[in-house]
This record gives sequence, C-alpha cells and structure tokens, in this order.
Amino acid sequence: MSEHDSEFDTDAELIRKNLEVVAPRAGDLTSHFYALLFLREPALRDLFPPAMDTQRDRLVQALVRIVGDLENAGELSGYLGRLGRDHRKYDVLTEHYALVGECLIAALARYSGDAWNRATADAWGRAYTNAARIMSGAAEFDATVNPPHWMAEIVAHERPADDIAVVTVRPEHPFPYRAGQYTTVETPWWPRVWRPYSIANAPGDHGLLTFHVRAVPAGWVSNALVHKAHPGDRIKLGPAQGEMVLDHFAPHPVLCVGGGTGIAPLKAIIEEIAYVGSQRVVDFFYGASTHSGLYGLDELLRLSQRMSWFKVRPAVDDMTLAGISGAVAEVLSEYGPRYDCDAYLSGPPEMVRDSARVLRRLGLPSSHIHHDPVAAGFGQPGFGPPGAADADDLTFAGH
Ligand SMILES: Cc1cc2nc3c(=O)[nH]c(=O)nc-3n(C[C@H](O)[C@H](O)[C@H](O)COP(=O)(O)OP(=O)(O)OC[C@H]3O[C@@H](n4cnc5c(N)ncnc54)[C@H](O)[C@@H]3O)c2cc1C
Repeated sequence: MSEHDSEFDTDAELIRKNLEVVAPRAGDLTSHFYALLFLREPALRDLFPPAMDTQRDRLVQALVRIVGDLENAGELSGYLGRLGRDHRKYDVLTEHYALVGECLIAALARYSGDAWNRATADAWGRAYTNAARIMSGAAEFDATVNPPHWMAEIVAHERPADDIAVVTVRPEHPFPYRAGQYTTVETPWWPRVWRPYSIANAPGDHGLLTFHVRAVPAGWVSNALVHKAHPGDRIKLGPAQGEMVLDHFAPHPVLCVGGGTGIAPLKAIIEEIAYVGSQRVVDFFYGASTHSGLYGLDELLRLSQRMSWFKVRPAVDDMTLAGISGAVAEVLSEYGPRYDCDAYLSGPPEMVRDSARVLRRLGLPSSHIHHDPVAAGFGQPGFGPPGAADADDLTFAGH
C-alpha cells in the first residue's frame, strides 16, 4: 500500500487493507502486543491468566469486528459499550485504554512492514480512540449503578447426570438480568478465567440464580463447577449479557429448540411466560443424540402437564422409547412451515446452526430467530484477559 493508493481511502478501508496485510501473522502480532504491554506496565500481568496461548488470534479477530462495523456506528457503539462494562470485572481502568492503544498501534506497525504509512497509522489512531472513548464512557457510567462484579455464594449443588451439575447461587447484591440471558463466571480454582453460563431461571423475589453446567473433557471452569464446587463456595459473576430475551408485546407463539445444557435459558424463558401469565403457546423441541442425553426431561414434562399452553417434544437421533426419532433440526422440518412464531435456539453450535437454517427454509424471517452467538469468530476489543467471553465473543464451544 503506498501513500498515493491510500490518499482517498476512508479509515475503514485503510484499516481493512492493513488487516489483510497483518492477518497471516496474527499470532506473532498478538504476542508482540502483549510483550509491549507488559514491558510498559508489568502490573498488568496480574490481570491475565496463564493460558494465553490458546487465545492468540482473538486480538486480530476483535479488531476485524470493530473495523467491520466502523460504518455501522449504532451497532458498534452497543457492542463496545457492553465490552467496556464487562471489562470492569477485570479491574481495567480508564488509564489502561491509552496504553493499550499505543502498544496495539506499535505492534501493527511492526508487522505491517513496508505497508505501514502515516495515513494508516492515523486511521487506526482515530478508530481506536473512538472505541476506547465509548468503552471507558460505558464503564464509568456503569460504575455509578453496578459493582464491577457480583460475589455469589453457592447455596445448592445437584448432579442430575454424571457430567452435569445444577448450581444455584445467591449473589451478595441484586443481580439485574432478563430470562434468556447469560453471565460470565469466575471460580476460586481458576482465578481470572471467566466463562459464560446461561441463567436457567427467570428473575424472582428470592434473588437466586441457577446454572446448568456440563463438564467438558479437560475443561477448566466446567470441571471445577461440576466436580469441585460445593454449597458455601463463592464464585464471581460478570454483568448479564445476551439478546435472547422475550418481547412480551409480540403476539406470536414461541418455538424453543434446545439441546444439552442449552435447555437452561429456555427454561428461564418459559418461567417468565408463566409469571407474566400471557398463556402464549410454547412448543419446545428438546434434542439429544440418545435418550439418556435428555436430562431434565421429566421436569419439563411435569411443567407441560400443569400448563396447557406448553408442549415438549423430545427428539433423539437414535431409536427411542419416548419422543421422535431424528436430529432435532430434521424433526423441526417435518412439522411444516412456520411463518409467525418467535424461535429461541440454544444448545450445541451445530444444532443451533442447523435449526436456524431449517427455520429460515420453512419461511421464518431471521428477525424472529433468536440465539446467542455460535460461530468461531471475534473476541475482545484488543484487551481484557484471554479466556473471557462476552456477548459478542464467538470463540466458544457452546453448551
Ligand atoms: C453464551 C454462552 C452460554 C453458555 N452457557 C452454558 C451453559 O449454560 N452451560 C454449560 O455447560 N456451558 C455453557 N457454555 C459453554 C461454557 O461457556 C464453556 O465454554 C464450557 O463450560 C467449557 O469451559 P471450560 O473452561 O470447562 O473448558 P475450556 O478450558 O475452555 O476448554 C477445554 C477443552 O475443552 C474443549 N471444549 C470447550 N467447550 C466444549 C464443549 N462444550 N464440548 C466439548 N469440548 C469443549 C475446548 O476446545 C478445549 O479443548 C456457554 C457458552 C456461551 C458462549
């Protein structure tokens, strides 16, 4: 890229071109960025967990996200605001933002070689300064109403299956959220390692939150929550996140498609419909590869016996004693066209993706299909401890 080529480019174009140049060396760039950051401010090391290497490409992915949205100011500012609020749990301070920007631009310059020029440096400077202003502004406002994180005591720990725990916690301060949202959790066994978990109950006067956690092989936080946690242990919670919430003014029936611990936020949504008393018709397709994977099915069936507007349809990949045979997305397609419902999908990424595809094919507009982010993709806006995930952090394995 020469000075001449870039003379008339917008900031977004300049940054996009620059990202194409550095993308093949994203890992090196990220390492260099953190090396510079820790050299300039050694105390920042304390914010980061040890397993940084697994998160190497997140920095550049996050930048792509920010730049990709540069022309879409509304969405970008919502995203950055949520990140700024979420970063409070890492003890990120306003003064850290400027330092991060300097190290980021220095790392980009180093890995751009001859393609680096004044116009590109200025474009990055403006984009980053704007992003940092939105993040720190949102964090400062949030500090006037919320703590940086919520301490919560485990008050119940049940094991409906060998690899699953239902963990109920009592936050020390009121925890604002909506049914269908998730929060991030840090356990005492893995300090500074945060993972997202959906909240399985609607907000209630008791102030309790329940999580359904499946231990994944070699997983840090999930194994701690399933195998180590006991009543009396204390965990930390980040702010509630996620857009998978009900619009109570929508007249449509509700379609839930869930699998594994993905049934957790759907249970919360059903509870909220029951509280509100709207009697909206709810069809719940619960998929698993085998019948034994349908944990919690009995409770859902009991609910459906009590509430005439709620139907559960278990679907299993193999032949089964109860329910319908076939992957849940295939089963959905057999139920025919759907034009008018609000669909909430939660579970393993492939199940969510397949179900969304089937529903679109059956005529349901994308705006009626709600789910948390599922594809591998972008992460944080350049800093914040690796291992963390947030509303727009798509680098995860799902439920
Ligand atoms: C919005 C959102 C909501 C979520 N809600 C829930 C929830 O309610 N309940 C729940 O149990 N989980 C949920 N998850 C997944 C959860 O955040 C963690 O990713 C999961 O618990 C693994 O974390 P870990 O620290 O144990 O594993 P890590 O230490 O992150 O991973 C260890 C190894 O396990 C692999 N791995 C990670 N996740 C899986 C997986 N699901 N299956 C197989 N291998 C995996 C990794 O690739 C890695 O090799 C949710 C994720 C998102 C993004």
